[in-house]
Amino acid sequence: MLAASEGLDTLVLEASAPGGQAGSSSKIENYLGFPTGISGAALPAAPRCRRESSAPDIAIPRQVERVDCHRPYTIHIEGHSAVRARAIVIASGAQYRKLALPDLARFEGVGIYYAATNIESTVCGGDEVIVVGGGNSAGQAAVFLARTGRHVHVLVRRDGLAATMSQYLITRIEQTPNITPSHAVRNRDARG
Ligand SMILES: Cc1cc2nc3c(=O)[nH]c(=O)nc-3n(C[C@H](O)[C@H](O)[C@H](O)COP(=O)(O)OP(=O)(O)OC[C@H]3O[C@@H](n4cnc5c(N)ncnc54)[C@H](O)[C@@H]3O)c2cc1C
Repeated sequence: MLAASEGLDTLVLEASAPGGQAGSSSKIENYLGFPTGISGAALPAAPRCRRESSAPDIAIPRQVERVDCHRPYTIHIEGHSAVRARAIVIASGAQYRKLALPDLARFEGVGIYYAATNIESTVCGGDEVIVVGGGNSAGQAAVFLARTGRHVHVLVRRDGLAATMSQYLITRIEQTPNITPSHAVRNRDARG
């Protein structure tokens, strides 16, 4: 966005959806300029350019397959031709670590989810929910799902949440009677 506003010919290539991981968050509370928080769904639209002419070109979904590192760089896009650029910013982020569970793929999207948005909370309804992980995303998911779920169990490998979760989320979990952090049995293949 800033490169485009400086007059550079800018192309954004995104493999799946705008917003990356943040797009799947129910509410981001520490994003500068949004003191009351912003939903992940609204985030991609937030940093608008003042003039439409200074916005970058955005291509979605376009997966970058390979980059030839001779200047000018050549970026090969899956199923499409290549584009050339004098500079590339790679911000390919992270992918979810998955649990070593038998038949995991069969339940993805039908019981096992990697986000906690209104969609997942609607699907979970008033059921009991297990959130696996002790980081801030897990804490936010637990607090969010506890609003509608019967009970939320937060499964962590460590003895407590303090080493991996921000104190404001730990406090909220402690104040929410239908959330229980539980110590998970350590599994060498299942991290998170
Ligand atoms: C549910 C949830 C809640 C969160 N809440 C918060 C919060 O409240 N506060 C906070 O600070 N952080 C939060 N985070 C973490 C935050 O979203 C991430 O730290 C941040 O999004 C990382 O940004 P990124 O651009 O580095 O990577 P990502 O968000 O992972 O984005 C990388 C993008 O690159 C694309 N990509 C990867 N490879 C290719 C390729 N070959 N070709 C084209 N595109 C490609 C991916 O599709 C993806 O969209 C949350 C994360 C989640 C999952």
